[in-house]
Amino acid sequence: MMTGHEIRETFLRFFEERGHVRVPSSPLLPANDPTLLFANAGMNQFKDVFTGVERRPYKRATSAQKCIRAGGKHNDLDDVGKTARHHTFFEMLGNFSFGDYFKREAIEYALDLLLNVYKLPLERLWFTVYETDDEAAELWVKAGASPERVLRFGAKENFWQMGDTGPCGPCSEIHYYQGPDPHDPTKNRAELVNGPGDETIEIWNLVFMQYDRSADGTLTPLPAPSVDTGAGLERLAAVLQGVRSNFDTDLLRPLVDFAAELAGRPYVADSHEGFAMRVIADHARATAFSIADGIYPGNEGRNYVLRKIMRRAIYHGRHALGLDRPFFHRVTDKVVEMMRGPYPELEAARALIERIVKSEEERFGATLSTGLQKLEALLATVPYGEMPDYKELARLYDTFGTPRDLIRVSLEERGISIPEDEFNLRFEEALGELQRASARSVDARAKTKEVYARLAERLGRTEFTGYEGTRLAGARIV
Ligand code: ATP
Ligand code: MG
Ligand code: MG
Ligand code: MG
Repeated sequence: MMTGHEIRETFLRFFEERGHVRVPSSPLLPANDPTLLFANAGMNQFKDVFTGVERRPYKRATSAQKCIRAGGKHNDLDDVGKTARHHTFFEMLGNFSFGDYFKREAIEYALDLLLNVYKLPLERLWFTVYETDDEAAELWVKAGASPERVLRFGAKENFWQMGDTGPCGPCSEIHYYQGPDPHDPTKNRAELVNGPGDETIEIWNLVFMQYDRSADGTLTPLPAPSVDTGAGLERLAAVLQGVRSNFDTDLLRPLVDFAAELAGRPYVADSHEGFAMRVIADHARATAFSIADGIYPGNEGRNYVLRKIMRRAIYHGRHALGLDRPFFHRVTDKVVEMMRGPYPELEAARALIERIVKSEEERFGATLSTGLQKLEALLATVPYGEMPDYKELARLYDTFGTPRDLIRVSLEERGISIPEDEFNLRFEEALGELQRASARSVDARAKTKEVYARLAERLGRTEFTGYEGTRLAGARIV
């Protein structure tokens, strides 16, 4: 059975052997791209190559890209630990053609790799195309797919874009049926494709890049049709290692088990504790990789998103697992140990990661204890499952610093789920009424930034990129 590291290497080598240049992952902190919080796809670093603004000495590339999807157009944060296939941090394997090959080769390469190298059974694969893309549908059949396995979907599923602007185009995806019997006649497996469950999972997206979307929505054709593909390494690993959850692959399970060990109880997948262990495992990866790439916890933009991720992990550790002393830095350190081979930047930042995480845990620990107690007390004043007054919730933040995000997570645990945007809006309104001067908190924010910047200087880190461009996307400090 292949390990995660072997699956990554096999992918990259397959495309190298077919004339693709192996390009290292770009950092999670996007260079010169204010539209992006974190790298969220393999194509990010090639954005300008697709549009013809930048030229490279090659027309084919392959990469394993570090991605985080926890904000902006692609945000999977609320799904982590609940589905078997969504992470905040994951690796996206990809092959790219810059005006070189197009649909036919992209489809043939993908199927060749899956069937002949990874040895996946064709009978478990399903294919999707954009509703009007007859060409792609025909190519799948020519490459070996049976016609009833090629399904059509609309723009939501099969027209890919990295954000509100940038290169985009119709796409075609490969899905894998993980159920017990691929020929079970009682199941409509076609309905499972792009469905809510994990029985059929999307493993690979082939994007046929044809347009550049500008801020006003206009689509301008790219100088030459191109290809951008993305396959989630953790999902491929689940499929190839014969497990039903990404969290059971060798890329994540040791972290889940380590969380269990720290908590002194076994990992039971289908339990509240099991959920907490998965969240901790996932968030530890996002945290370690972010810090190694120069993104530190803070109060704005991507720095705030990282802080939110770290606090969620700390919260679940305390709340579900009784880990009330700093523990999370030990999990992030295990990430370094597991991933430093392919990602040496983790080793270079090892001491820094540990210090930042530990200090965040210590600083947040006291706030969290008080905040959670007050929140429990508040919730006890309303009937179970009923929403308390927004003003009372905002007061918890204002007085005890209980993070808005954790208030929402706690409510969800009591069966009250509110979409993030709506919750934030109502919360901020209520808070606005409560708060006048914020000068005091502004001071505190400035201080934290300095502390971490000084730490980074002392402990070192490859390529410190600083705080440039972190004022993004309206993440107010709550
Ligand atoms: P899904 O529909 O499952 O949310 P997606 O369509 O949003 O996935 P793409 O934008 O097409 O994903 O990304 C390409 C590939 O990256 C996917 O086919 C999948 O294998 C992987 N992937 C996407 N999001 C995640 C995630 N949050 N965690 C792990 N892998 C992911
Ligand atoms: Mg998605
Ligand atoms: Mg999808
Ligand atoms: Mg997709």
